[in-house]
Amino acid sequence: MSPATSSPVTVRFAPSPTGLLHVGNARTALVNALFARRAGGAVLLRFDDTDAERSRRDYVEAIRQDLAWLGVTWDAEAFQSARADRYAGIVDRLKAEGRLYACYETPEELEYKRRRQRAQGRPPIYDRAGLALTGDDRARLEAEGRRPHWRLKLDPEDIRWDDLVRGPCHYDAAHLSDPVLVRADGTLLYTLPSVVDDMDMGISHVIRGEDHVVNTAVQIQLCRLLDGTPPVHAHLSLLTDAGGGGLSKRLGSLSLADLRDDGLEPLAVAALLARLGTSDDVAPVASMAALEASFDITHFGRATPKFDPADLTRLNARLLHGMDHAAARPRLKALRADGGPAFWAAVRGNLDRLADAAEWHAVAFGDIVPRCEAPEDAAFLRTAREALPEEPWDADTWGVWTGALKAATGRKGKGLFMPLRLALTGQTRGPDLAALLPLIGRARALDRLDRAAVGGDGHASAPAIT
Ligand code: GLU
Repeated sequence: MSPATSSPVTVRFAPSPTGLLHVGNARTALVNALFARRAGGAVLLRFDDTDAERSRRDYVEAIRQDLAWLGVTWDAEAFQSARADRYAGIVDRLKAEGRLYACYETPEELEYKRRRQRAQGRPPIYDRAGLALTGDDRARLEAEGRRPHWRLKLDPEDIRWDDLVRGPCHYDAAHLSDPVLVRADGTLLYTLPSVVDDMDMGISHVIRGEDHVVNTAVQIQLCRLLDGTPPVHAHLSLLTDAGGGGLSKRLGSLSLADLRDDGLEPLAVAALLARLGTSDDVAPVASMAALEASFDITHFGRATPKFDPADLTRLNARLLHGMDHAAARPRLKALRADGGPAFWAAVRGNLDRLADAAEWHAVAFGDIVPRCEAPEDAAFLRTAREALPEEPWDADTWGVWTGALKAATGRKGKGLFMPLRLALTGQTRGPDLAALLPLIGRARALDRLDRAAVGGDGHASAPAIT
């Protein structure tokens, strides 16, 4: 089952296919993958789908697609739903060893016990009443129609591990309730299948959110009870909103699909998620390989990192501004907005989202609505039209043309450039016109200057709107 690799590192990302990947679990997936790849190790994608009612096949597919979009690759897949027999064997073994014991309390009875313990100033730890039941007690309870759930009898030891992020950790098992491993309906909680899989699949490192820290203590003991060697653990601090205090409902459910639909670059998402909570700078990277090369799990700290979508938008823009044409080309082609390297060099600095390139593609090569805002600019545009240099054009053409216009009309600064920009692009802002003009070309430029001038005349003769 363990993917063949010469590296001793095998990690797993273990989503429950009960929903889409959100930023929090995408981060866990990414960190696992970066850690493994950096070490030359393997990644297992394990679907924790023991909850048959809530697990869905379409979520399995969506999770695969989202991971692929993010740039996470994996070497093997496993489904817990296919391993029920294996878990049942372990459950039988633990029952035979007296490690799993039957308990019959209802949730209400358990809650009552906990309330009473708290009222007496005691910690609300399960009192092991189930362990004291005789065969007769059990028969009587079952005759009442009760079905047992099964708890793991923990040994009262200090459970220790060296966490790659949190440093030395320990939990006194005497302070933990014996965990329920099997529900009354016979279904398994996550604890046991996860340990059995990690053992069977040769998982060397378990990297997950710090919400699992207590599970880890129990799972380490369970692994040893099953004669296994516990994996190395790393618990990442959970993301919070910019305001702190956990991720809000809105951000907590922000899915990778939302980010993709928003037109963000997967590499920007990856660069942010891989570095949030580390001592490394959040900065654009050229490739997943570059992100991998700079990855070091020991750079993660215990402080709670803040996830701010505005940071992601800014990082996305910075990434685009430095992206080379070869990297952008496939996406530009899909948008029907590939205007070649010169086009990309001209427009990339003006993009927040890659899809914005489509608008500039139309400006450079397509159809736009030329504008002329003031009647007095119409004559200027006609002069500009007459002064347009002959082709071939290059990066100097803009300077030659506007220099001549300045001398001829006395206009300068905004008065010189803005009417030209509005006429040639239909917009008040945009890429450097020296780079854009050769792409627009003489024929389109003449046409736009003509049409803008006519529009300017229209301004002059149009009746004032009152
Ligand atoms: N399916 C579990 C979860 O999504 C896996 C936790 C783990 O990584 O062990 O929380």
